[in-house]
Amino acid sequence: MIKKAIYAGSFDPITKGHLDIIIRAKELTDELIIGVLFNVNKSNYWFSETKRIEMIKESILETGISLDNIRVLSFDGLLVDLIEKENIDVLIRGLRAISDYEYEVQINLINDMLSKRKFETIFLNASRQYLYLSSSVVKEIALNKGELGHFVTSNVENMLKEKVEELNGKR
Ligand code: ADP
Repeated sequence: MIKKAIYAGSFDPITKGHLDIIIRAKELTDELIIGVLFNVNKSNYWFSETKRIEMIKESILETGISLDNIRVLSFDGLLVDLIEKENIDVLIRGLRAISDYEYEVQINLINDMLSKRKFETIFLNASRQYLYLSSSVVKEIALNKGELGHFVTSNVENMLKEKVEELNGKR
């Protein structure tokens, strides 16, 4: 059993692919932290970090999973700094297609060089039905008024629809 793990990303918004990793990681760990990245230099998020945190918690609950050993928090800056601050043992990453692999290896090596704390990175492969699912694909579908139910939970679907209306109102 892993003591303390982190699964980090932008989750803008959380998809069923992310949820699948969260549910599987929760089973492997005593405590799972979900780190929501807020990059001050990146202003094109659809959802604020507060909204993203809320959507993550609601999605987990909507899936029928309890939040008992899960903590959701936002962070900016380097992930390794958060790993040191929170005394994390394992970093969980989701691996989709081969295209994720190159990037992940690069990040992994850099994290290892930067971190003063020793931690392992564990890759969980994406489930078949979510292999090509990403937050950006979900946003594209929402913009084009496509069917979202396969990809996100209903609370996220509602938030996406609201956001699209807001964006269309500005045009
Ligand atoms: P980033 O800000 O790195 O793009 P994301 O929020 O897209 O972060 O993803 C966070 C983590 O979730 C990464 O490890 C990513 O590979 C993984 N991930 C994203 N989509 C999926 C999916 N459909 N199935 C499995 N893992 C995924």
